[in-house]
Amino acid sequence: MIPLISIKNASMGYEGKTVLSDLSLDIYEKDYVCIVGENGSGKTTLMKCLLGLIQPLSGKIEYGSGLKQNEIGYLPQKTVLQKDFPASVSEVVLSGCLNNRHTLFYSREQKNIAAKNMELTGIYPLRKKCFRELSGGQQQRALLSRALCATSKLLILDEPVTGLDPKATSDMYSLIKDLNRKGITIIMVSHDVTASVNNASKILHLSRSNYFYGSAHQYLHSDIGKKFMITSCPCDDCQHNRSSVKGAAK
Ligand code: ADP
Repeated sequence: MIPLISIKNASMGYEGKTVLSDLSLDIYEKDYVCIVGENGSGKTTLMKCLLGLIQPLSGKIEYGSGLKQNEIGYLPQKTVLQKDFPASVSEVVLSGCLNNRHTLFYSREQKNIAAKNMELTGIYPLRKKCFRELSGGQQQRALLSRALCATSKLLILDEPVTGLDPKATSDMYSLIKDLNRKGITIIMVSHDVTASVNNASKILHLSRSNYFYGSAHQYLHSDIGKKFMITSCPCDDCQHNRSSVKGAAK
């Protein structure tokens, strides 16, 4: 299988400063990858490279399956400006079609795509409301619909649940999982290691000196994963073994 994204011996950073060195990994279609790691470990720098906003200092990033960098849907971290955006929900969502816009007006096809994506995230009934009147969770779902207008293949999400209450957080995670089940590849930066392990198929843990990339199961059994996690591995095999051990001890 050809990877959707292949990072090959890439070093990333800024003029005179290497943040990530010699990173090599493959991301496949339908993967759900969570990027975790302490502040300053290079999560945002990696995302900027994936989006083509900065170039790797050395090595390369290859895109497969016909993916183009401008076909990546991106949900940036929430800013105060976004929260107070003076436009209707459907206008905010439609602006995600700008990548493919050739005229001053949105085409019928673009309007249909926006409507479909609002339906996918459950925000369609609120489309005529002013964006700033929505709750935090509703705003994130509108911005997710906007990101979907740029892609049907890959979403990059930067801490999409920051500032949301527990119910909105859990709804957002379910929605992202649903989109992944529908075939959209997810790359998500997260501070919530437990939720990452529960939801993602793969974990990329960046730290200053090295990195871990593997399945959520492998992560929980790795040295770096054990250091960061307090929860036990939720995979079926491990749960089964654990209950067998408990049963045997009775
Ligand atoms: P994270 O997202 O994991 O918190 P970042 O990728 O934002 O980490 O930052 C990694 C390192 O790169 C930090 O030391 C940060 O200060 C530095 N950095 C981030 N942006 C720039 C920039 N534009 N120019 C120079 N250094 C930067």
